[in-house]
Amino acid sequence: MALDKFGRNIHYMRISLTDRCNLRCVYCMPEDITFRPKPELMQDDELELLVKLFVELGFDKFRLTGGEPTIREGIVDVVRMIASQEGVKSLSMTTNALLLDRLAKPMADAGLQRVNISIDTLDPEKFTKLTRWGKLDDVLRGIRAAEAAGLTPIKLNAVIVKGFNEEDVIDLAALTLQNPWQVRFIEMMPFGDVAGFQTKQIIRAQDMRDLIKEKLAPLEPVLNKKYASGTNIVAAPDGKTKAPLMDGEARLYRLNPPDGLAQGTLGFISSVTNPFCASCTRARLTADGRLRLCLLREKEVDLLTPMRNGASYAELKEMILDGIWHKPWGHDLDNNVIPLNRVMSEIGG
Ligand code: SAM
Ligand code: SF4
Repeated sequence: MALDKFGRNIHYMRISLTDRCNLRCVYCMPEDITFRPKPELMQDDELELLVKLFVELGFDKFRLTGGEPTIREGIVDVVRMIASQEGVKSLSMTTNALLLDRLAKPMADAGLQRVNISIDTLDPEKFTKLTRWGKLDDVLRGIRAAEAAGLTPIKLNAVIVKGFNEEDVIDLAALTLQNPWQVRFIEMMPFGDVAGFQTKQIIRAQDMRDLIKEKLAPLEPVLNKKYASGTNIVAAPDGKTKAPLMDGEARLYRLNPPDGLAQGTLGFISSVTNPFCASCTRARLTADGRLRLCLLREKEVDLLTPMRNGASYAELKEMILDGIWHKPWGHDLDNNVIPLNRVMSEIGG
């Protein structure tokens, strides 16, 4: 078991399979980003060895991300390799869905269980503006392909950005009225080169909820697991408080219009204004093989270089355990400590 010094059991690994992407979302990466040369990134055999180590250390939940994970060469084989490790209980992916039309079924057959799909607006023009050249139709097709392949329950991720899509929370939330999906609204986080933009244009989760209540329907905290459509619900309420149930990092709510409760749920991920550090169980592996201990802190442990220099299995395990032990409690954005060494796509969101 990998414990940190605060007693948190860290068993959820998010792996960035590539820093590259077929889009350039404004909140994620600059348009003229330079990607790392491929030899600097983990190769398949290196990734396999690290996954085996993590599993031996008690990691049982994995999420593949990036960059855009579906553009990694041999993605179906990567999914199969991870899914086939004994001890892996959960394997999911965060994707922009552009390639799911072609890949959802083979990845599901290879052992992928679920996907989170990023979709920040239902307006085709705004979508293109936010992603710099993406087509909304491709994402909608991808969502259908994921559902058909059984990569469910479907979760949709929307980062809300002032001046781009704050009004779109209403249409996105309305999707849950008729669909058993979880639509998750994410507060924009500041990273690297784009931190100035991100800090100025953040919309708080509380403001999103207020807008939904005002313009769409009353919003109720989900208090009972029975009514949550997500999986991996981590913290049930005590039944007395009105604190919403959490699904991973998302606080769950449900629309309650006069004609009956919505089918799906809304998740609010307020990493900036109301973080969930006490229940954090995760670490990240960057595409260049660094163990990143907290999304919003620069602290990392380089595993790839020692591995390439011949470090033994036992030495690598020791480095991982030591890194996890020193995992920071959480972010320090209030004191203006902003992670500058990487943008989101390099860390793996
Ligand atoms: N390309 C895939 C996708 O977009 O789903 C996976 C990688 S992306 C970095 C993972 C998630 O991070 C996406 O849901 C994206 O919207 C979110 N994200 C990217 N930059 C962010 C930022 N500055 N603040 C909050 N979320 C961000
Ligand atoms: Fe690419 Fe995902 Fe970043 Fe958008 S959020 S640029 S799709 S990695």
